[in-house]
Parts: sequence; C-alpha cells; structure tokens
Amino acid sequence: MFARIVGVLVCFVLFGMPQAFADEYPSKVITIIVPFSAGGPTDTSARLLAQYMGETLKTQVIVENVAGAGGTIAAARVAGSPPDGYTVFFHHIGFSTAPSLYRKLPYDTLRDFEPIGMVGDVAMTLVARKDFPAKDLKELIEYAKANKEKINLANAGLGAASHLCGMLFMTVIQTEFTTIPYKGTGPAMNDLLGGQVDFMCDQTSNTISQIKAGKIKVYGVTTRDRVSALPDVPTLQEAGLPNFEVSVWQGLYVPKGTPKPIIDKLVHALQTSLANPTLKQRFDDLGTVPAGKEAATPEALRKHLKAEIDKWAPIIKKAGVYAD
Ligand code: ASP
Repeated sequence: MFARIVGVLVCFVLFGMPQAFADEYPSKVITIIVPFSAGGPTDTSARLLAQYMGETLKTQVIVENVAGAGGTIAAARVAGSPPDGYTVFFHHIGFSTAPSLYRKLPYDTLRDFEPIGMVGDVAMTLVARKDFPAKDLKELIEYAKANKEKINLANAGLGAASHLCGMLFMTVIQTEFTTIPYKGTGPAMNDLLGGQVDFMCDQTSNTISQIKAGKIKVYGVTTRDRVSALPDVPTLQEAGLPNFEVSVWQGLYVPKGTPKPIIDKLVHALQTSLANPTLKQRFDDLGTVPAGKEAATPEALRKHLKAEIDKWAPIIKKAGVYAD
C-alpha cells in the first residue's frame, strides 16, 4: 500500500497531474483572488468576469478579496496555492510595478505564475470630493499648489494604479501632497463621498456612476482619447497636462505548474467571456476595453508583463520610491 502511494506521488512529480484530473476540471468552485478590497474597480471587473467564466466553465466562480500591501499579499498567496486551476489571480498593472517598488517580494513575478491572458484596459479619472473648491483642472492645479499642506490624495497603497497615477500627477505639477493609503479604492471612494479625503485618481469602473450622479467632481480622464461612457469629460492632455497618460491593463494568472489542459480551459473561458456582447457592453459602461482574442492568451500576457516590468523599473528607480 505504502509503495503504491509513493508510486503515485512519484508519478505526480515526474509527469505532472494525471490527464484524468485535467479532464474532470472543473469539478468544484473556482476562486478568483482579487488583490484589493471589495467594492473597488478591480473587484468590480473580476466579479463581472467571474460570472461569465463560470457560465462557460459550468461551475461557480467566486471572488475572494485578499487586500493589502498594494496587491503583494494576494500575489504571495496565489504563488503558494496548489497549481490545480481552482485558484486564479486577477491583477492589473500593479503586478508589473511591484518588483521595482518593493525591495523584497515573497514571490517571483515571472517565475511563480502562469499567465492566462489579458482581460482589458481601463481608463483612470482624476476626481475630487463634491465640494472641492476647484471647478476645472487649471483651478485644481492652482489651488493644489497654494494649499498643498492642507489637501490630501487617496490611493490603494504602494503599487496600486491609484498610487502610480497620483505620483505621476504630483511629479507633473511638481507639488507633493499627503497621501492616504487604503486597501482598495472602494473604501477610498466612500471617504471621498463622505468628504474625508480631497481627491484621487481612480479607474472609471469605480468613478463613472458617482460622476454621473454628480456626487464627485471630475477633472479629466487619463487616456489619450476620451472615454465613450464619459463623452463630456476631457482628457487630462486636453485639459492642460501634455503627455499625461495612464491606462490600467488587467490580466489573469494561475500558480506555476498548473497543467496545460487546465490552462487551456481557462483561456477558452476567458476568451468566450470577453467576446460575450453583454459583458462587452457592461465593460464599456465602466470605461473598460475588453482584450481581443489575440491578447487574451498566455503568450500575449507573458510578453506584456515582462515588457511592463522592464518599462517601469528605470522610471521607479529614478523616482526613488521604495517599500521594504
Ligand atoms: N483602483 C485600485 C488601484 O488603485 C485598486 C482597487 O481597489 O481596485 O489599483
């Protein structure tokens, strides 16, 4: 008996998981780990995707929020999860900036994960509490420079897209503010609505409904082109910040060692979901452009992730921002 168990274990080590295991996949609930709090933009995109991927995979796909340290706690958790396709990781651009921002990471970004594919691109918006004095970007910059000790900027921690965008804004206007880190911009939005923080830069998927309801002020979108769901909002470039461009790309990963047949099933479910007209429309309403079929592949995401790590490393080094 003992010899048989050892034999099975040796087979696993030498040949990976048996084909039968992959054939049966999925036979239970799949969990998508989101590295920020519930209610924020990453969470919103992941929950939408989970619903459609679940339909294709014919199983329940749930979202678990593992927030903190700009997404690195969640990444470490996924890296250490069994490579069986039941733990999937949804992360954004912050996955590529963390290797430069954090002196030590408890995982290796390129070695410990298998990419599934790109999910989409989301624009960001520069927004402020409703009663913030500045009515447009020009006034915001003037007011911010004159009152820099008084005002504060919310973000979702070092490595979050909101952190990156806020840093870029401070650099471009050459003014530093106090930053208030949250575990996600979901809770940061609550404080913006409540007037406890002054402004932030966040994905349209978290800001559009509040902008449309007139509950917050918007100064511009961070993409080169306007966002179709916010046609009257200028780009920050149009509003007076040349070269200001940030777009939040999102990707899906599983732990290294996940068998290829399982990866293939996840890729198929991702591509099928992203091609679904209802999901496309919902993404569009949130200012998100879904990845096309050629981008929603492991090869495309692997290449993009590596290129982004290489792109951000010198920029972050020059900025001298680090976390231990
Ligand atoms: N929008 C956040 C960010 O700055 C993350 C989130 O809460 O989804 O990356």
